[in-house]
Amino acid sequence: MRDLKLTFRCEGCESMIAFPASEAGMIRECPECGGWVDVPEATRRDPSESQHTLASFQEELNKRYFEENVRQQAEKARQIETTDRHQEWVRQNLERESASLARREELLEREARLVACFERIAVSFEAILAKWAKNV
Ligand SMILES: [Zn+2]
Repeated sequence: MRDLKLTFRCEGCESMIAFPASEAGMIRECPECGGWVDVPEATRRDPSESQHTLASFQEELNKRYFEENVRQQAEKARQIETTDRHQEWVRQNLERESASLARREELLEREARLVACFERIAVSFEAILAKWAKNV
């Protein structure tokens, strides 16, 4: 405690006045306006001081709230990033799969073309053989 004084505002003249703590609960004369004042029972801090305390408390609360908000935003961003990365992974896998399917189709097509080519060769070879057999 800074001193044993009770500081409060006079209801008559609105001046900040102080009385010794030992006079708490007594009726005294305001040194500013001369009106009667009730010296309060409880020790009151200078209102500007308690306002300051309230302001810093509010500030602290705002800061905490802000920090919590930032933390939550970061967490949300992290989750979105994880989801994005997962989707990217799925997309890449699908791409790879469709690429390998396309490659397989291409190979099958090439094989079919080769088979057709061999069949044509076989057919003409048979024709040549038949002609040759007639001539012999
Ligand atoms: Zn007064």
